[in-house]
Amino acid sequence: MNADISEIQTFDHDVVVIGAGGAGLRAAIECSAQGLNTGMICKSLLGKAHTVMAEGGAAASLGHTDERDNWKVHFRDTIRGGKFLNQWRMAELHAQHAADRVRELEEWGAVFDRTPDGYINQRPFGGHRYPRLAHTGDRTGLEIIRTLQDYGIHQGIHVHQECTALKLLKDSGKISGVFGYWRDTGRFVLFRTKAVIMATGGAGKIWRVTSNSWEYTGDGMEMAYSAGAELIDMEFAQFHPTGMIWPLSVRGILVTEGVRGEGGVLLNSENERFMFNYTPDRFKEETADSPEEAQRWLDGDTSARRPPELLTRDVVAKSIMKEVEAGRGSAHGGAYLDIASRRDGEYIKRKLPSMYHQFKELAEVDITKERMEVGPTLHYMMGGIAVDGDTQMTAVPGLFACGECTGGMHGANRLGGNSLSDLLVFGWLAGKGAKEYVRQLSRPLQIDPDHIEEARRQAVGPLNQEGGENPYLLHEELQNIMNDVNIVRTADGLKRAIDSLEELKPKLANIYAAGSSQYNPGWNQALSMRPMFIVAEAVARAALIREESRGAHTRLDFEGEREEWGNINIMICQNTDGSMDARKVGRNSPPDHLAKIAYSNLEDLEGGVHV
Ligand code: FAD
Repeated sequence: MNADISEIQTFDHDVVVIGAGGAGLRAAIECSAQGLNTGMICKSLLGKAHTVMAEGGAAASLGHTDERDNWKVHFRDTIRGGKFLNQWRMAELHAQHAADRVRELEEWGAVFDRTPDGYINQRPFGGHRYPRLAHTGDRTGLEIIRTLQDYGIHQGIHVHQECTALKLLKDSGKISGVFGYWRDTGRFVLFRTKAVIMATGGAGKIWRVTSNSWEYTGDGMEMAYSAGAELIDMEFAQFHPTGMIWPLSVRGILVTEGVRGEGGVLLNSENERFMFNYTPDRFKEETADSPEEAQRWLDGDTSARRPPELLTRDVVAKSIMKEVEAGRGSAHGGAYLDIASRRDGEYIKRKLPSMYHQFKELAEVDITKERMEVGPTLHYMMGGIAVDGDTQMTAVPGLFACGECTGGMHGANRLGGNSLSDLLVFGWLAGKGAKEYVRQLSRPLQIDPDHIEEARRQAVGPLNQEGGENPYLLHEELQNIMNDVNIVRTADGLKRAIDSLEELKPKLANIYAAGSSQYNPGWNQALSMRPMFIVAEAVARAALIREESRGAHTRLDFEGEREEWGNINIMICQNTDGSMDARKVGRNSPPDHLAKIAYSNLEDLEGGVHV
């Protein structure tokens, strides 16, 4: 029987933004600034998104701390950090517009740390040639989200909190609505809209050890994929080198790269500063080869090269693993991170207040006096929904995406700080893209009642079962499988993972949640399982296809980068029978002006034009 639409609470908007992190908020601000009736949905309370947790800062070539910086150097760093697999146009737009987006935040009231001259201060971070991260202590995300929220609310954005979007609805191939439910009451809700901007963040919960919180189950990637969009670069999932590893209950929680940016060093069990042994050839010209040179760099000597602790995340994470394998790991299987012996206590508390409290409260470690113990933790998805760089539109008319749920911008490895600037730049562009699309729509859009009924039927499936699979246990099984799709991979392990996922599919179809739809965490968990399965399968399939090691993707059976793979992206889409298609797609060569920057000597770019 069809659902009576009039019984389902319904809202009408020109644009619906799914996700209220930095990307969603920036996109929503742009849409409402363009005169669109803008609705924004978020799974939890407004303000509780990953963006608020960001610690280190937003990367932008403001040139305040080192005037040699400019967008071209930022672009070059991003491309080299991404191992030349980034979408050229996205990396160009990002580097060109990041500085203006940060300045704009300041105009809207964001308070960043200052240089002695009163300019926005910038801190060093891995892979960035110059100190580049605009920051507010180690609570930058909080300041950014506070600013965007205040500004957005006053622009008249309609916020729908504690509402989970489940499915996109279409009219003749074009987006026409979103189906979801209120997490507290379990009642369904329908949003009629002309365009959707997906901004749902990452999918870290697929892995056991992660810096991600409960919300990050890949919902947006799955909704877009199920609606006909493509996913790109899914094999690239970033393991941040420094998560907490002890006590076990806090394993995975992030220890910001800002600790190393402020001078912290990594040590093995023999007290050796081991990162000097792991500088890849590609980065030798920009990396210090002695502690003395590294210290001079930190002291502001512009002729010195940056410390090896600030190599890109993929390099540092794998170096820690190698030390552990060689029997030189820390007490609980990681490395020691020491800032206590490098900076005085007051400085540490002022620049890294959250880290100070985090370790004091969760691990009873005083980081102004003792070393931290750290190890890799799943942190960020480089892969995600494929979009056109300029408009952020996907292959589905009316579906836009921005922020961490998209792929392409960061290639095989994201540089720290480039996510906050990514979500500001591409949130802004997605808003512009949506406005242009809505303006050109020639007829009103409809929602087929059968599609609503199908979405409703799927959603209540776990409640209508007579018994079945426990969603929490299924989640654990999924996380076990992902041990084969971890920081290092082999063909055997990846095939095993894909087979195991196939074997689990009947269990997924038989998932069961006891009780009613009201206040039911088991049902919430059950509904997040399909997205996690889809993303897990996409990562495993793409990882099996890429027979090389590049950036965050390490194949023990195919060591090192292979030239032919530098010209290939792996794209994922849904076949008409519902199965997953993963295929290689050739990359376009970069336009001359970008190739010149990417492959140039640094000296040719320094002191260039600031954008
Ligand atoms: P998020 O901020 O993750 O927001 C996603 C939104 O989508 C949330 O509102 C969520 O409720 C909503 N959502 C998800 N699914 C649904 C659904 N089905 N229905 C409705 N709503 C949904 N990056 C940097 O550049 N610099 C840093 O210093 C930095 N530090 C970090 C520290 C930590 C601890 C973490 C976890 C990440 C850090 N990152 C950093 C990464 C960066 O914070 C994130 O990549 C970025 O904030 C993602 O922003 P976003 O807007 O794309 O998504």
